[in-house]
Amino acid sequence: MHALTEQQVRRSFLNCSQGEAKGLTLPRDFADLDWASLELLGWRDPKAPLRGYLVVETHDDEAIRPLGIAVRAAESRMSVRTAAMCLLCQTTQSGDAVSLFTARRTGAAGRNGNTVGTYMCADLACARRVREEVPPWLQDRNPAEVAAGRAADLRERVRGFVDAVRR
Ligand SMILES: [Zn+2]
Repeated sequence: MHALTEQQVRRSFLNCSQGEAKGLTLPRDFADLDWASLELLGWRDPKAPLRGYLVVETHDDEAIRPLGIAVRAAESRMSVRTAAMCLLCQTTQSGDAVSLFTARRTGAAGRNGNTVGTYMCADLACARRVREEVPPWLQDRNPAEVAAGRAADLRERVRGFVDAVRR
């Protein structure tokens, strides 16, 4: 991703009010982010327990712009003893590290209460995970290639999610 200012992040949100976007809490390490290594910026709101945010870069009509999606985690959590997979970065973890998140859709659909839901890493740190964690079945492959492939897949799945929110 290209580096974004705080204002650009706040203005990028598609599915929440301006007031909500103004009031949300940015990641604690916002000033030190290594943007070039991020496929997306994902974080949980440190002050609002069930809220989380995803900001991605989209290329519409040759222009690169950030798009933010506000998501809400389900209140019920899965068990530590079951395995669950994040459908964005496809990392398998214990159930309590994966959460069902819903995003309000944009426009009339969203005003009618329509949401899109998917299972994601509870900490929304998929971008870091695809680079740092190698799934067991890929461990004998070249780590740099594995990370690049997982990052490209993540980008595609996040775009699919964003498209479902604004369809
Ligand atoms: Zn993930």
